[in-house]
Amino acid sequence: MEILENIPVEINITEIKRRLHITRDVDLNLAQQLIEESSSLIEAKALYKICYIEEKLENAVRVDGLSFKSKVLRKNLDGVERIFPYVVTIGAKFEEEMRNNPDLLKKFYLDTIGTLALTSARKYLEAHLRSKYALGKVSFMSPGSLSDWPIEEQRPLFELLEDVDNAIGVKLNNSLLMIPAKSVSGIYFPTEITFFSCQLCPRKECMGRKAAYSESLAKEYGVLE
Ligand code: SF4
Repeated sequence: MEILENIPVEINITEIKRRLHITRDVDLNLAQQLIEESSSLIEAKALYKICYIEEKLENAVRVDGLSFKSKVLRKNLDGVERIFPYVVTIGAKFEEEMRNNPDLLKKFYLDTIGTLALTSARKYLEAHLRSKYALGKVSFMSPGSLSDWPIEEQRPLFELLEDVDNAIGVKLNNSLLMIPAKSVSGIYFPTEITFFSCQLCPRKECMGRKAAYSESLAKEYGVLE
């Protein structure tokens, strides 16, 4: 198990403007002020493990005795032997500040700042994996991002990673959501063509969309809804 601590995060103000539909200077100044005030509360950490696939079944893979059931994950791991399960978080302090802020507008802005900080931390992990393990392209999938790989699959993922709470302070609640909520989990794997779950997700108007929906790809993966 590997732990990365003190991950530097970068918050892109242009992306903040886009996501929050900011057009006025006064709102941009508020966003900038909140970034400055909250940056010391961000404690980004990552935990990951290097695992080898034991068995490839029709719509599942087995890793360290645990089954991960997903047609999409199985297809993505066709030519892959080594995977990198992970959890990344920006920690509890930022979330506490956001939750306790009585100003709804500031709370809303902080939520987006936290999301972008978390994305930045995940990208740092991605760059670390690519450089340390001499990987070319990598892609990732997260439990709960597609109905094909539901949130219940957090259980085997956290079991695989062992004591995530002790290592980086992230635990699952009864609904299998991560606490702190500004955390992400999943599996990184090497790919020849970059894959995004968004390509198979028909949800409209999602600010987090990373790639356009492709009906033909959804058909190819056998998950056309
Ligand atoms: S489009 Fe949005 S909801 Fe769908 S997978 Fe991408 S980020 Fe998630």
